[in-house]
Amino acid sequence: MRIAANATLLALLLALTSCSTGEIFVLGENGSRGNTAKGDRGDDGATPLDQALLLLKDLAENGETELQRALAEETVARIEDGDVWIGPVSDARGVDLWHMCKDIVPDECGDRPTDEDWRATPAIQEAIEADLDGYQWGNRLYFTGSDETDPRKLAATLVHEVNHVLNRSECYYYDDYETHEVDQTGAFLEEFRAFYVECWLNRGAKATPEACREHAVKTMDELEYGLTPDFETLMPGELNPLEQIAEELVESRFWMEGSFGYLIPSWFQWPEDFEPCD
Ligand SMILES: [Zn+2]
Repeated sequence: MRIAANATLLALLLALTSCSTGEIFVLGENGSRGNTAKGDRGDDGATPLDQALLLLKDLAENGETELQRALAEETVARIEDGDVWIGPVSDARGVDLWHMCKDIVPDECGDRPTDEDWRATPAIQEAIEADLDGYQWGNRLYFTGSDETDPRKLAATLVHEVNHVLNRSECYYYDDYETHEVDQTGAFLEEFRAFYVECWLNRGAKATPEACREHAVKTMDELEYGLTPDFETLMPGELNPLEQIAEELVESRFWMEGSFGYLIPSWFQWPEDFEPCD
């Protein structure tokens, strides 16, 4: 899922937006899709989320590469252990809802609320639900519903979004948390990594740093992220910064360092907490 195309908002690039798929889906509505909800595994009435988790469990067992298996296994583990919360956009309250508001109708949200039950006006709520397909903040993932969901795309989206949670993307996405001014380089890196990791999940033995780097850049182009990173500030003198970043992300000897963040949401690299980062 990604923010729906509302060209007036560069904000659409918020910390979340996964995005690769443009897919939206129903959470927690067992059986609502009738026969079409029946997966190949005979999981009658399973939600798209259930089916996506089954696909990931299969990949965790039978994936072609160690990285692919680890991505699938650890993503499922974080979700099933409750380290990531998943729910509908309509359930958002408090500061999470306020951050959504700042990305959609920034002038109408008021000051950041301290009340964890803060609610938007009905008009703002409607605008948010119309414009957002998905949102990540801290360890919470919000989605809006639809009957049209390919569990395979959802599985990749979950890996993308859990990668944002693992790296606390919302803490690097903005220059200013009051205005939600986007940090172009930080936001680019957060999305690049998340699309890059989707590629490693999807392509298995065919994945390479070069192919997945190109995939990530191309996908961000197609989705019109419009980010303008300044690599000279980030990596002075580096001639091929994205090549370097792609290599470092996937090289096992760098996994413990995480200079550009982490790919695998293993417990020992998981954030200690999800306190506000600003
Ligand atoms: Zn994303």
